[in-house]
Amino acid sequence: MDWMPPRRDVRLTLDRGRWVSLSGNTPRPPPQASLKSGDVAPSAFTINQPDTHMPFLGAHMPAAGGLHLVFERIAQVGGHAVQLFTRNQRQWAAPDITDAEADAFAAAWKAWGQPHVFSHGAYLINPASPDDVLWRRSRDALGRELLRCARLNIRWVVLHPGAHKGRGATTGIARAAGCLDAAFEQAGTVAESVGVLLENTAGSGTALGADPEELGMIIAASKFPDRLGVCWDSCHGFAAGHDPRDQAEWNRVISRLDQAVGLDRLHLIHLNDSKTALGSRVDRHEHIDQGQIGLPGFATILNDPRLAHLPMVLETPKEKDLKEDIRNLNVLRGLLNGAPPVA
Ligand SMILES: [Zn+2]
Ligand SMILES: [Zn+2]
Repeated sequence: MDWMPPRRDVRLTLDRGRWVSLSGNTPRPPPQASLKSGDVAPSAFTINQPDTHMPFLGAHMPAAGGLHLVFERIAQVGGHAVQLFTRNQRQWAAPDITDAEADAFAAAWKAWGQPHVFSHGAYLINPASPDDVLWRRSRDALGRELLRCARLNIRWVVLHPGAHKGRGATTGIARAAGCLDAAFEQAGTVAESVGVLLENTAGSGTALGADPEELGMIIAASKFPDRLGVCWDSCHGFAAGHDPRDQAEWNRVISRLDQAVGLDRLHLIHLNDSKTALGSRVDRHEHIDQGQIGLPGFATILNDPRLAHLPMVLETPKEKDLKEDIRNLNVLRGLLNGAPPVA
């Protein structure tokens, strides 16, 4: 495979002399200034600050002990983008956000340098479900998630498009779009600033969204296309046969995304290596460079000028001390700035 040297000379969107992110998330200064001495500050944190040509690297963070704690945690690993579950991701029931929670969240967001923030929807939600009871539960759960995000000022909820369970992709796509629309309507104007990012999937079983075209069809079938975007997961994509290790192949993936969805709708990248082989259709996240995608694949993604403005977060396993995130982020940062991949 040919590894192309990264290009850093392409500017994406400049508005009156000021960099404007296509994701609608204006890049903010890094949280470096908020770090107090004694906080863990990996060396790379001060070396490779994101600029207008670099993605905003970060990680999914546990919200144990309080939603606001994700900001301290992402700063500890030197991240500039964070994803969280605003509730228990494996249960239907979820409490509303209290005033105290919302206040603490806003204060910590500001205090820790205003990183990009994304919510990940609960795993139980299946918008494409052929079962009316599950479909309504999914609608209600998504509607409440939109309200929680509105309360927390979070712009996007990441959601798996769901599984059609044997009814076929066409039916599943229509069900999924209908569920999204119903959730938007249910949440009402209070949550009108909150949108949904449909995440590509590994395509196991009857899961929708293994290809850009299916994501695009859901968006096209929705009454609220302006509130829909896409999150691309490198591990899911790899398992579904989309290979970033080969520059020409990756270019085809991005072209398909652009055609089917529009790159202006791509707002987030999940950076996970894959335990499983290309096209395996099995989703198993692995630490960066310990899976089958490897450094050349991540170098291609990280240095793609079409993605240089985007937040990119890890969803890899971690212990309480977050040292795995620090390591993974350092490996990723080492691929920026034209550093060649380690053989
Ligand atoms: Zn993901
Ligand atoms: Zn996954």
